[in-house]
Amino acid sequence: MLTITRKLEFDAGHRIPDHNSQCRNLHGHRYALHLTLTGEIVTQDGRSDKGMIMDFSDIKALANKYLVDEWDHAFLVYENDLAVRQFLESLPNHKTVVLNKIPTVENLAQIAFDRLKDVFQKEVGLRLVKVTLYETPNCWAEVSEGASA
Ligand SMILES: [Zn+2]
Repeated sequence: MLTITRKLEFDAGHRIPDHNSQCRNLHGHRYALHLTLTGEIVTQDGRSDKGMIMDFSDIKALANKYLVDEWDHAFLVYENDLAVRQFLESLPNHKTVVLNKIPTVENLAQIAFDRLKDVFQKEVGLRLVKVTLYETPNCWAEVSEGASA
């Protein structure tokens, strides 16, 4: 199978509320999101994306529009993490994203996969086969088709 992968990076804050070590503290990461797509190669003459599955800049634009712009420089907070939610809500115009799951890299990768799979299917008819989300250069989660919750 021929696939293409686009990497996007964003910064976000989070914490793991009941973690027994450092991750319970408010902190942030520079996340790296890798989107792997497959589909037919464009064959029409004269198109700027001839020979491509999808122009990398178009992948970036869709991912930004439907996910990354929302999460970049936001604080990702679990809906039941009430102390932090209350604090964030007390800050005027703070960029906060409330999630129904604890913002571990596993859950964030799953949310990204579920949302972007539909976006790429509906917008351009391409199949998102894998999302890899790096929380640090050494730690990441992967979600691929069939593994969706
Ligand atoms: Zn963390």
